[in-house]
Amino acid sequence: MHPLTKAVLSWHSLTARDLPWRGETDPYRVYVSEIMLQQTRTETVKKYYGRFLLAFPDPASLAQAPQELVNKLWEGLGYYTRARNLVRAMQVVCEAYGGRLPESREELKKLPGCGEYVSAAVSSIAFGKRELALDGNGVRVLSRITGETGISDLPAVRARLRAFGESILPFEGAGEFNQALMGMGNLVCLPKKVLCESCPAAPWCLGHRNGNALCLPVKAPKPEKRQERRLIALVTDGKKVLVRKRAEKLLNGLYEFVNLPWPDGFSWREVLAENGITHETAQPAADFDHVFTHLIWHMRGFTVKTDLVEREGFQAVDREQLLALPMPSAMEPFRRLVLEEI
Ligand code: SF4
Repeated sequence: MHPLTKAVLSWHSLTARDLPWRGETDPYRVYVSEIMLQQTRTETVKKYYGRFLLAFPDPASLAQAPQELVNKLWEGLGYYTRARNLVRAMQVVCEAYGGRLPESREELKKLPGCGEYVSAAVSSIAFGKRELALDGNGVRVLSRITGETGISDLPAVRARLRAFGESILPFEGAGEFNQALMGMGNLVCLPKKVLCESCPAAPWCLGHRNGNALCLPVKAPKPEKRQERRLIALVTDGKKVLVRKRAEKLLNGLYEFVNLPWPDGFSWREVLAENGITHETAQPAADFDHVFTHLIWHMRGFTVKTDLVEREGFQAVDREQLLALPMPSAMEPFRRLVLEEI
């Protein structure tokens, strides 16, 4: 075993945090944790993981679950495509694999939403396969150890990092090693801070030796996020409020209040009138921004009091129903406002 590998594994055995999925080897539970941890902070996932598994303890229960219930338990975790793919993946597991997750990385990758990282993580952690799981944390740590200065998204650079990672991957305990890399990325080799004096890789780390760790990995410049102005109309008679289930790809299947594009040069009264919403009783309520991966919504909310709460494609819901509906985080501040009204 490479001395670096030995150092990383023994550091991990001493520092591994007590996480709900720590030590878990049941493939389904590992799979759920890895999907939840994609682009989501560990602290956030901790609040969801146990509750989700209580509701859906095995692949069969999740495969049969209504998507709306799954979305409700996913509410606040974001990236809802993951929740849809998770259900579809378990349907495939039940139909094609007899309700047991496949062991090999290649078979796992056939499941909807299971990419390079999750397939390697599940295959190594749950089935003990020698696979390197390389996510953003792993890329950061390995870039710094190797002093890699190429743009980290480039295939040739990824291939170099992967080759190095595989050269130090142990023949037994690859799952532990993958989790150790993740732990290093979370605890000592952070995006904007390095605690090299506490890091097991320091004696081998070129980024540390050269003093340029914080400049690594080198990233390609990000395209600017698109900005959209949205007018959110909270149309209510004091007892019910209008909502609709989104059919768009973004936030598909989640509920929202009346959510209108707000072109430049138009007043809010004009936007409401253009969309057939009475504006005589409309009152500015609150403004919120919501940042998506490629898009920012600048939202201005208005309460619109009316006697007739109806609109084509929308349903009027009362307080209890509103609380039970899965809503995206972007709508959450408006839901809180509405709950003060109805
Ligand atoms: S020694 Fe420093 S820069 Fe290198 S991997 Fe450890 S924390 Fe990161």
